[in-house]
Amino acid sequence: MLCRHCDRRPVARSRGLCWSCFYTPTVRDRYPPLSTQNRGLGMGRKRLPCEPCDAIPGTPEKIRVLMERAAREQELFHEHDAGHLSSSLALAS
Ligand SMILES: [Zn+2]
Repeated sequence: MLCRHCDRRPVARSRGLCWSCFYTPTVRDRYPPLSTQNRGLGMGRKRLPCEPCDAIPGTPEKIRVLMERAAREQELFHEHDAGHLSSSLALAS
């Protein structure tokens, strides 16, 4: 990927700029920072909602459900899953 400004040198700094463009203030000011949404491990990654399941947590069936959800890049847990934290708290009160 080449620098967004000079389009000659490879990108070496944030904002898609090469080293010398990044450290040229007048150039850097023209290119606002790229979104910080994608920083960090797994951050900013949209997950699809999953369907609730009635497999009991800790069972092979539940683990299989979690593996399938992970493979589809879905949320791993659904609030209506059997034995989900919110429903067990509701039972305890
Ligand atoms: Zn440049």
